[in-house]
Amino acid sequence: MAHAAENTSQPDVLIVGAGPAGLALAVSLADAGFEPWVLEQAPSANVEVPAEDGRDIAMTHRGRRVLESLGIWQRLPEADIAPLRQAKVLDGDESRSLLNFSAHGTALEALGWLVPNHRIRAACWQAATERPAIKVLFGAQVTQLHLQSDRASLTLADGRRFQAPLVVAADSRFSNVRRMAGIGASVHDFARSVVVGRVHHEHESDGIAWECFRYGNTLAMLPMNDRQSSAVITVDSNRAPEWLALSDDEFVGRVQAQCPPSLGMLKPAGRRHHYPLVGVYAHRFTGHRFALVGDAAVGMHPVTAHGYNFGLYGVEVLTQVLRDARAAGRDIGSAQVLSRYGEEHRLTTLPTYLGTNAIVKLFTTEWAPAKLARRAVLAVSENLPPLNLVVKSAITRQLTGRTGLQFPGGVGRFGSAP
Ligand SMILES: Cc1cc2nc3c(=O)[nH]c(=O)nc-3n(C[C@H](O)[C@H](O)[C@H](O)COP(=O)(O)OP(=O)(O)OC[C@H]3O[C@@H](n4cnc5c(N)ncnc54)[C@H](O)[C@@H]3O)c2cc1C
Repeated sequence: MAHAAENTSQPDVLIVGAGPAGLALAVSLADAGFEPWVLEQAPSANVEVPAEDGRDIAMTHRGRRVLESLGIWQRLPEADIAPLRQAKVLDGDESRSLLNFSAHGTALEALGWLVPNHRIRAACWQAATERPAIKVLFGAQVTQLHLQSDRASLTLADGRRFQAPLVVAADSRFSNVRRMAGIGASVHDFARSVVVGRVHHEHESDGIAWECFRYGNTLAMLPMNDRQSSAVITVDSNRAPEWLALSDDEFVGRVQAQCPPSLGMLKPAGRRHHYPLVGVYAHRFTGHRFALVGDAAVGMHPVTAHGYNFGLYGVEVLTQVLRDARAAGRDIGSAQVLSRYGEEHRLTTLPTYLGTNAIVKLFTTEWAPAKLARRAVLAVSENLPPLNLVVKSAITRQLTGRTGLQFPGGVGRFGSAP
C-alpha cells in the first residue's frame, strides 16, 4: 500500500473514511483488481495503531466469512477471539433465564464470535498495507463533493482535489458526505447511552452471554476470554455521567448486583467507555457516481449486533456489483449499476433495522403493560412450539448469514442493550 501524498494517478474509487468498513472495502476492491484510494481525516496513528475503545464486536458467521475471504480474520490475535456459545435473557427481577439460545446440539461451533473493535481495525489496516493498489491519505478531511455526469470529485479542507468514476462514503453514521450527496436519513435518537467496561470474574463464563433487562437499566455481559466479560450498561443518557463517575469498585459493585450469580465475584478489568445510541438509516444507498457503505448507510442500535456485520455484507455485494460491471464493460459509477447494490442492501438490512428498533422500544418501556408484553414475548418465544422453533431457527439463520425468512429483530448478539 502506498500513502497518497500527492494526486499523481487516478483512482478507480475514492473511499471517504478509513474506519473498519472503509478499509475492508478498499481491501475487497483491491482484490477484485480495482485501485481504491482512501481519504481519512484523522492522523495516521489513529488508524495504524487504533486505541482500545471498549467495543467488543459480535461477528456473525457471514461477517466472519467476509473477513476471512479478505485475509483480515486471519490477522486477529487468536487470544482475542471469544466464541459466543449461548445467550440467555433475564427480565425484571427474575433470576431464571426466560429465553435461551445455544450452539449446542446444532452444527454450529458457536453462535458467533466476540472480537475487540480495535483488533478488527488493526487487522483491516494491516491487510490494506499489503495491497499495493490501495492508497491512503491521512489528515484528509473531505469538505466538498461534486457528482458530475462523467466523474465525481472531492475537495479536502486544505483545498486539494481528487477525481474518480465513483465515490463511496464510509464516514460514519453522522456522515457529512452523505448530506453533500443530497441523501437524507431517518435518524432515531434513543436518548439512551451505553457505558461499557471490562470485568474479571471468578468462574468461567462458558461462552454464555447474558442480557439482563432490569428495571431502570439493562446489563449485558458479553463473554470474552481469560474469565473476562464486557459489561454493557444501557441507561437514559442523562444518567450516563453518573455511571462514568463511579469508582471502579462502585461500578463493579453495581454490575455484580444485577449480574447472574454463576459468574462468581467480579473485579474491575479495564477502562470505561461511553456511546450515545442513535440509529440511522439512509433514504437511499446509491446515486450517480456515489454509494454509501458501513454506518453511513445503516447505523444500527447495537443490541442486535449487526452494525459492522451489515457493513461487511455491503462490502461483499458492492464489490461483486462493481466487478460484474467492469467485466461487462459498463461504467462502475452509473446509477443503474449501483442500484443493484442499493436494492440488495436494503432488503438485507431494513427488516432488521426496523425490528431492532421495535425490540428496543418494548424492552425499555417501564410502563406496566409493556413489561407484561415483553415477558409474554420471551415466554412464548421460549416455550410455545412451534413458535419457539421458528423464532430460534430464524435467529440462527441471521447469525449464520443464511438467506430465507428473516426474523425482524435478528437478535445476533445480546450485546449492548436498549
Ligand atoms: C457500543 C457499540 C457496540 C457495537 N457492537 C457491535 C456488534 O456487536 N456487532 C456489530 O456488527 N457492530 C457493532 N457495533 C457497530 C460497529 O462498531 C460499527 O458498525 C462500525 O464501527 C462502523 O464502522 P464504519 O467504518 O462504518 O464507521 P466509523 O468506524 O465511524 O469510521 C468512519 C471514519 O470516517 C472518517 N471520517 C468521517 N468524516 C470524514 C470526512 N469528512 N473526511 C474524511 N474522513 C472522515 C472518521 O474519522 C472515521 O475514521 C457497535 C457499536 C457500538 C457503539
